[in-house]
Amino acid sequence: MLVRATAIPLALHPYASTSCIVHWLTRHHGKISTLLKGAQRPKSAFLGEYQLFGTSELLYFTHRSSTLYTGKECALLQPRTAFRTDWRAMQAASYLTALVNKTTPEDAPHPELFELFEELLDFAVDYGRFPQFLLWAELRFCRHHGHAPQLANCLLCAAKTDLRFCASQGGIVCRTCARENKFPTLDCPPDVLAILRAWQAAGHPASVVQTQLNGRQRTALDAIAAAFMHAQFNLNPEHRNAATQAA
Ligand SMILES: [Zn+2]
Repeated sequence: MLVRATAIPLALHPYASTSCIVHWLTRHHGKISTLLKGAQRPKSAFLGEYQLFGTSELLYFTHRSSTLYTGKECALLQPRTAFRTDWRAMQAASYLTALVNKTTPEDAPHPELFELFEELLDFAVDYGRFPQFLLWAELRFCRHHGHAPQLANCLLCAAKTDLRFCASQGGIVCRTCARENKFPTLDCPPDVLAILRAWQAAGHPASVVQTQLNGRQRTALDAIAAAFMHAQFNLNPEHRNAATQAA
């Protein structure tokens, strides 16, 4: 069957001497994989029509016997060329792409996820160079998956003071509950908690990237985000480190 899809590459793998296997997130067909035959030949019609972080229109044949489909044609719709020259933004886009790739099963249609991914890549073009952007994007991603961290009060007893962040419980707990349950927790002083709450409520990164952070706040936020993403999505911290250390 011939399928037309709007798609963004999640990973590219050279295959044989001249071909390429591309894993894509498509708008209506979820995550799929295609073989682009001859894509690396100098005169290939695929050349310049797909790239990481860019949206393409893709035509491909599905097969009954294999989940590796065959690409027929491809046209780049939205290249997002800023990532070629803005290295920090590219690192943020790269992390978001790895996050989507790692957390999305194959062939599960998920149009809202595609929209979120496109929106985050578009925001990354303008805001990805700011270190604050990454955590805001993670909070959006978590909310989309129904894993938004609970930041209102202690998850166990509803206490509003003396709070710590507990990645495994999915939010904040008070020091007493943490001690009684032997939860591993991270420092989350009131100023850091206030930043997390404000960023979680922000629908746009413009105000987020203007938040001035001191070194202590940045360290605390990075530790919380890394632990939370690992606990919720089993995400290898290396991906995150590459992106945060770029900033
Ligand atoms: Zn408590």
